[in-house]
Amino acid sequence: MFRATWMIAAAFLLLTALTSAQTSSTTASSMASAAVSAPAFDVNTAVETYLAKMSPAQQARSTAYFEGGYWLTLWDFLASAVVMWLLLQFGWSARMRNLSERITRFRPLQTALYWVQFILVTSILTFPLTIYEGYFREHKYGLLNQTFGAWMKDQVVGLAVTVVLGAILVVPLFGLVRKLGRSWWVAGAVLMIAFLAFVSLIAPVYIFPLFNTYTKLDATVRDPILSMARANGIPAKDVYEFDASRQSNRVSANVSGFAQTLRISLNDNLLKRCTLPEIETTMGHEMGHYVLNHAYKGVVMMGVVMVIGFDFVNWGISFALARWGQRWGVQGIGDVAVLPLAVIVFSGYFFLMTPVNNTITRTMEYEADMYGLNSARQPDGEANVDLLLGEYRKMDPGWMEELIFFDHPSGRTRITAAMRWKAEHPETASPAEMARPFQSAQ
Ligand SMILES: [Zn+2]
Repeated sequence: MFRATWMIAAAFLLLTALTSAQTSSTTASSMASAAVSAPAFDVNTAVETYLAKMSPAQQARSTAYFEGGYWLTLWDFLASAVVMWLLLQFGWSARMRNLSERITRFRPLQTALYWVQFILVTSILTFPLTIYEGYFREHKYGLLNQTFGAWMKDQVVGLAVTVVLGAILVVPLFGLVRKLGRSWWVAGAVLMIAFLAFVSLIAPVYIFPLFNTYTKLDATVRDPILSMARANGIPAKDVYEFDASRQSNRVSANVSGFAQTLRISLNDNLLKRCTLPEIETTMGHEMGHYVLNHAYKGVVMMGVVMVIGFDFVNWGISFALARWGQRWGVQGIGDVAVLPLAVIVFSGYFFLMTPVNNTITRTMEYEADMYGLNSARQPDGEANVDLLLGEYRKMDPGWMEELIFFDHPSGRTRITAAMRWKAEHPETASPAEMARPFQSAQ
């Protein structure tokens, strides 16, 4: 079973690599044909002109920030693995289980009590890394507007959300494992998908407002956006603005929610820092996520990743418990004290799957870019927004680097797509957008 799983995983990786190779060769040939049919406008020159709006120093800064993130992916995984190993090796996990069993005889509640102790202990042990990563490093690059107190408050709220949501997942998951034994993993993956859909459903209403204030957008910006929404068959009545400037100067917008709570939101930085054409192309992108059903497709693709991952976890747990289970005081896969081991195996799997998961999202983001260009018809506005996103994402990576580390297309890829589109629609060119300088908020 394990070999079969890895063959599927390898095939999936290969497919991902091929798909993206195909994307880049399409880019090259379309650019060549665009150059033939429209000699007056050269895509490559236009791309370089836009990239040059960012000074070398600004580019170097965002490159350093983004590349540091590659290493953090590794350090996060290693730090978590070390903490989990400590919990097992020194019998802390077994002791947390024993304590839960002394407090109550009701098994679901024992699982929940274990979970609360587990998340508190691991959050405290990994906190130095969390502070460096989330506070000092963000400040160093001018990407965080919060004082330590305000940041800390967000962390505590986030921890409370994790305790509650995690319990909602972990309690039925262990129930399943105890009932089904070693064949838990398919049902477990289905439960996980249902959980992700549930979180996505409640997040816009119950979770996001814990961190930011959401207000309905006023008419000047709302009406052109709603007009676009109607034209694209999106039954939106309102567009939401949220005060992301509380945390940072990053521009962003999102489609959040699921089914009844699906909604379009844009942040106040986008509103303050961008022109109407730039906002329109951003909203066109977000509407693309909606029309192309990315929320549903994402859940299905993550489901595939989960099924393979849970099978791997199943194998990893059997392997390790057979050798060290006795020493750790972990009685079996249905014993909640096994959780640190499950986290080591699962996060190891996710670490290895980074390029696959990034490619799943990056591919959808690229589709949304195409949709945004076709619906908003603002290629120059699009290129300017792509530059703003380059404050925290490397603009010009190698193709392999983009494949592995980028969960959104790079600035160069996005601007190239915008200029290629513009070459075929010269009437949409905007001299005002082209002349607009890049204004860093840092
Ligand atoms: Zn997007």
